[in-house]
Amino acid sequence: MQFTTYVFQCSLCGNKYSPDEITYTCPVDGGNLDVLFDWETIGKKTAPQDIFSSKEGGLWRYLPLLPVADPGGQGTPLRAAGGTPVYTPARLADKLGLTSLWLKDESRNPTASFKDRASAIVIARAREIGAKVVVTASTGNAGAALAGMAAAVGQKAIIFAPRTAPPAKVAQLLVFGARVILINGSYDDAFDLTIQASHEFGWYCRNTGYNPFTAEGKKTAGLEIWEWMETFHPNLQGKHLAVFVSVGDGNIISGIHKGFKDLFALGWLKKMPRIFGVQAEGSAAIANAYLAGSEQIEPVSARTLADSISVDLPRDGVRAVRAARETGGGYVLVSDAEILKAIAELGRVGIFAEPAGATSYAGLVRAVQDGLIEPDQPVLVVNTGSGLKDVKAAMQAVKEAPVIEPHLQSLKRII
Ligand SMILES: *Cc1c(COP(=O)(O)O)cnc(C)c1O
Ligand SMILES: [Zn+2]
Repeated sequence: MQFTTYVFQCSLCGNKYSPDEITYTCPVDGGNLDVLFDWETIGKKTAPQDIFSSKEGGLWRYLPLLPVADPGGQGTPLRAAGGTPVYTPARLADKLGLTSLWLKDESRNPTASFKDRASAIVIARAREIGAKVVVTASTGNAGAALAGMAAAVGQKAIIFAPRTAPPAKVAQLLVFGARVILINGSYDDAFDLTIQASHEFGWYCRNTGYNPFTAEGKKTAGLEIWEWMETFHPNLQGKHLAVFVSVGDGNIISGIHKGFKDLFALGWLKKMPRIFGVQAEGSAAIANAYLAGSEQIEPVSARTLADSISVDLPRDGVRAVRAARETGGGYVLVSDAEILKAIAELGRVGIFAEPAGATSYAGLVRAVQDGLIEPDQPVLVVNTGSGLKDVKAAMQAVKEAPVIEPHLQSLKRII
């Protein structure tokens, strides 16, 4: 059992709060709260080697850098969140003319998306504060992750999702035994209702970009990228690795940035990677602000087949803009057609991504075309979710299979 002390700091006004006093966002301006640690003390107690020698294969190996105590749940999927593989898709690198390209595959999480990282940490927090019920609004993956992590340790979960969520995601919610409530409205409608309901009924709310612990869970992907560099590519540490990630609410990109910032503050990370956010053209509120040189997030009327990043008003927009701006990264926009093409291209190297998962790769293709990325720039792309989550979209990315009579004659006609 280990517990790291911390305070919250508002990302807008800079006010500091004790975690006993505030649960979600800044009471003054609604800003997202950053978790602030005392890195000097932690750095004295913990060395990178302590982490590298951990027996935990997933994100719990970073417990000394996380604002939660060990949640238990040994031998359950809660312990298996994170620890995702990094592949070297050499044929894609050749095609793009890049010297080095890697892909971190978050579809390998227990419920098949990046969201398990956040939900694992929120469940740990829920256990600490003795929450009876956890609740979240979700386009599908955050809910599946919360429902799955909750089921792993016998915690009660309620999930609000738009009725248009892909059926596979709704099936996950139901199979994990969560109370599922489908909203006749958008993700944003579900989001607002969830906040009202959590106040009304005293439920502990995981909402992305609202609960400060989600970014702490998501930062573990940044910590893993650092550990991977240290272990396998120490020469990358002195270079600016470019990391491409798809962006909806902006919490994954902010979380990965937070992970790098924490490591930098510890002196464990030598050079900040450049972070590139990729949004769908039809859901581009954060990219719009970034490209206008602003931190003012104007809501859009989101329309994209990448349901996981279809957001009218991103809830973590300001930090998401800063993730790119402060690291010398950028934002890239891609069309739904480019996203479908990226699904097919990733498929050809054995990686099955849902639309939002393939969006990061589509963004890299675009960035190379636009000259944003030089051939010798090392790049890591994050696939945030599994293609099995949205089979209907996957089928739009490929040609239909022919149906033939079971005779060699019929086969010969099409071979
Ligand atoms: C949630 C999600 C994203 C985007 O994360 P945000 O924190 O909303 O920016 C991207 N891809 C997948 C598969 C997701 O589930
Ligand atoms: Zn504030």
